[in-house]
Amino acid sequence: AKERGKGRHAVYDARLERDQAADAQLGAELRQALDNGDFTLVYQPIVSLPGGEWTSLETLIRWKHPERGFIGPDVFIPIAERTGQIVPLGDWILRTALAQAAEWQETFGDRAPGEIGVNVSARQLREPGFAADVRAALADTGFDPEKLVVEVTETAVFDGGIALDTLQNLVTLGVRIALDDFGTGHSSLGLLRTCPADILKVDKSFVDGIGGRSEEAVIATAMIQITNGLHLQAIAEGVETAEQAETLHRLGYRYAQGYHFSRPLSPEQVSEQLRAASVL
Ligand code: C2E
Ligand code: CA
Ligand code: CA
Ligand code: CA
Repeated sequence: AKERGKGRHAVYDARLERDQAADAQLGAELRQALDNGDFTLVYQPIVSLPGGEWTSLETLIRWKHPERGFIGPDVFIPIAERTGQIVPLGDWILRTALAQAAEWQETFGDRAPGEIGVNVSARQLREPGFAADVRAALADTGFDPEKLVVEVTETAVFDGGIALDTLQNLVTLGVRIALDDFGTGHSSLGLLRTCPADILKVDKSFVDGIGGRSEEAVIATAMIQITNGLHLQAIAEGVETAEQAETLHRLGYRYAQGYHFSRPLSPEQVSEQLRAASVL
């Protein structure tokens, strides 16, 4: 047994080393990718219940690696955070999304979704210049700050300090704050007293189990009561079935997002849908 334990340890070490090497490799390639234009943005609609009208779009990044093909943000965003690459990458994401949203507004007017959401990582929030960068990006694109929603996780703002100051500065600009993956991080409820959030994005894990008398349904119900009581907006994430959408609506949810309504769409697909909707 001892032998086997030792062997397993060696395997683990080897894998860890391989992972670290792969991380370092990807980190180096991330720098190249931005210059090469290998990143693109897709946009997933957030809809109103029960009708499914688009109310806003969440920006999600995609990496088309020249050799390895598609790499998901769950893989490379954590690496970009560790290496600090998320700061220039995040600035590119924000500016590209704002320019795109401004273009849709110009082309489609009121038919374009009112708001655009952008995910912002913990590392970005701790950059002292971040709020100033957001202000500059808004000024350069002429985009209305009140139509920008910055999505942050509970974990990113949990330790307070600079991150909370940054959020406060964003609020001063008129930007709205969404707490992402709500209910899965540290101190969910306590955070609501200190964090200037406008929107709670209720995590998919609660939506998944919402049918019947499950604990998730009880929690999802409590969350809608909290958001109503605090005059916040709740968005249910990861809605995959009509049944889930109906249950959420019955529980009092007015906004949802998920594959049942739409997958993330390329800019061309968004334009197509908006064009089709304006013909109706
Ligand atoms: P997130 O912000 O919680 O984004 C929601 C994720 O759930 C997205 O995955 C989306 O495609 C996926 N999703 C939406 N509806 C459904 C559904 O009905 N079922 C299922 N199974 N999944 C659904 P994606 O695009 O792979 O992004 C994963 C995570 O990577 C994001 O989670 C976010 O934390 C991070 N991320 C993505 N784009 C960015 C970005 O531009 N900046 C930063 N900092 N992080 C990003
Ligand atoms: Ca998000
Ligand atoms: Ca989320
Ligand atoms: Ca997530």
